[in-house]
Order: sequence, then C-alpha cells, then structure tokens
Amino acid sequence: MKVIDIINQSDKTVFSFELLPPLKGNDASNIYRTIESLIDYNPSYINITTHRDEMIYKEMPDGSIHKQVVRKRPGTVAIAAAIQHKYGIPVVPHILCGGFTKSETEHVLIDLNFMGIENVLALRGDGVKGDTVFRPDPNGHANADELVKQIVDLRNGKYLDSDLKNTTPLDFCIGVAGYPEKHFEAPNFDTDLGYLKQKVDAGAEYIVTQMFFDNQVYFDFVEKCRAEGITIPIIPGIKPISNLRHLTILPKIFSIDLPQDLVNELKKCKNNDDAKLVGTEWAIQQSKELVANKVPSLHLYTMGMSDNARKIVEAVF
Ligand code: FAD
Repeated sequence: MKVIDIINQSDKTVFSFELLPPLKGNDASNIYRTIESLIDYNPSYINITTHRDEMIYKEMPDGSIHKQVVRKRPGTVAIAAAIQHKYGIPVVPHILCGGFTKSETEHVLIDLNFMGIENVLALRGDGVKGDTVFRPDPNGHANADELVKQIVDLRNGKYLDSDLKNTTPLDFCIGVAGYPEKHFEAPNFDTDLGYLKQKVDAGAEYIVTQMFFDNQVYFDFVEKCRAEGITIPIIPGIKPISNLRHLTILPKIFSIDLPQDLVNELKKCKNNDDAKLVGTEWAIQQSKELVANKVPSLHLYTMGMSDNARKIVEAVF
C-alpha cells in the first residue's frame, strides 16, 4: 500500500520508524528483533535508509596513500523486500542521488517494482566523508527534485532509453525530506523552502522532516510551507536522544537546535542511561503534542534501537 493512501485513509495519526540496513557482514536478526518489538503497536510502514560509498584512505608500506571505496551498509533493496514479505508491512526504501547514476537508479526502481514495493523516499544524500561539498555522480542527479522527476517519468512508462516500446509504467508513491530549521547548505530558509516547493511540484506526495526538538519549529514550518503553496502532508521526524554525546553531535551533524530546557536536563545526567530516560521522555511529550495536533504520521528515527521507540509508541498510541 502507498504511504499517501495509508495517511489519507486514516482518521488518526499513524506511525512509522526508520531502520538502517545491517553493517556489511552482519545478518538481519537485529533488524527483525527491532521490528518484532514494535509490531504489536501496528506500525503503518517502515523506512529503510540507504548509505552511499565511503572513502577509506590507507597509508601503504611505501608511504603511498591507497584510496578504497567501501559501502558499509549495502542491502537496502533486499532488506526492504525481506521486511515487506516477512511482516506484510509496507516499506519505504530511501533512494539517493549521491553515488548512483540515473541508470542504476532506474534499475533499483525496476527491482523494487518486481518485489511489490510501492514507496520510496527520494533524497539527494550527503557528500562522501571527507568531501566538503556534495558531488553528484557524473551521470547522476545533483538534487532530489531531479530524482523525483525521474521516478515520476516512470509512471508514464518513460524509461531512460527512449527507444523502448511497450514499457510497463512503474508507479511509486514519493516522499521527500524537509528541513524546519533549514538545510545546512542553503543560504537561507526561504531559498530552501523554494527548493522544497520544486520537489513538490516535481511530484512528491508527502514530506518527512528532519528531526527537531521544539514542536513550535515544526508548527511554524508547516505554516510557512502552506503559505508557499505546499499542500501535501508534512510528517514530523522525531528522534529520541539516547546518550550524552547526542547533546553535541546532533546539532553538528544535522544542523538543528536543542531547546535550552532539554540541554539543562541532559546536563544534569550522570550517564547515558540517565540521558536516554530524559531523551525518551522528551520525545514522548513532543509526540503527544503532535498527535493532539493531528499530524498525519510520526516518523521515528530509531537508528536500530527499539526500546525507546517502544516506550514512545506505548505512551502515545
Ligand atoms: P535536496 O532537496 O536536493 O537539497 C539539498 C540542498 O540543495 C539544500 O540546501 C537545498 O536548498 C538545495 N537545493 C535543492 N534543490 C536544488 C536545486 N534544484 N538547485 C540548487 N539547489 C537545490 N541521507 C542518506 O544518505 N541516506 C538516507 O537514507 C537518508 N535519509 C533521510 C531521511 C530523512 C527523513 C531526512 C530528512 C534526511 C535523510 N538523509 C539521508 C539526509 C539527506 O540525504 C541530506 O540531508 C542531504 O544533505 C539533503 O538531501 P535532500 O534530499 O533534502 O536534498
């Protein structure tokens, strides 16, 4: 089932959570355990992240530097298909511009269609670790709006090879990312909002937000989106803080602010267990308020941890 239909057919807030594919060399048992600990709460769909190549630089005995390209978490398509078939819950694999040619993307979409997957989250992705700017593949997309257009074209059977005849249309429900506190590369909020509108005009059907820790930031974002003519559902992304390091790394990595009250509570914590309690309680209160305000869905950034996600859905749904 398509996410947009799930949302439109539900008279209350639904929820989804985001999983990372296993690290290369691991099996899927941890992922299945996470799903099984949340399944009683009826997740409506499950997102599966995609991870592009990383560069590993190794100094060789002769002093030269060897550059190795590795993908640490391959397998998004396979694990997404395995989950949908094993649990019957719709999945939303993430599709990236970065690290992929347009043809590779087309092939991934063909595979997803064969496996009965009807949803994708279309993203640009970040630059390779060590690169200061995002560099698209020479035969890939530079921004998510172009990726959305490619996916939409397939609805009309428009494959990259324009000579193809009698093609099967591929019809995916497309989500995109939105940034209530602005994407870190955008020169200002309004420019970023304009590009978000471009993704919507290209055919995105819903938006999932970057994590935020102050609901007013989300409410203001929705208002600004509506004023810009963006009418599609905007799904809030909630991240339960689960250790003390999050206090410094989340703002740095995701370019977001932590409210002072949350910072004060976290500073009182003696260890990661205390921080996790504070972070989970904060996420519960945020989620309760969002659900009371009838948001279409909650997107939980679990990072593979289910105990705090379980506490949130237990308390909220
Ligand atoms: P875009 O929409 O392309 O925007 C990127 C930047 O370019 C912005 O500054 C924007 O203002 C600007 N811009 C947009 N369109 C144009 C244009 N046409 N011309 C010029 N500038 C433009 N990353 C992963 O690697 N894997 C994942 O699985 C993953 N999942 C995510 C899930 C969610 C819900 C979110 C919010 C983010 C996720 N990310 C993931 C991170 C995401 O890839 C990064 O935030 C990335 O830097 C931007 O992706 P985007 O799709 O928002 O890019």
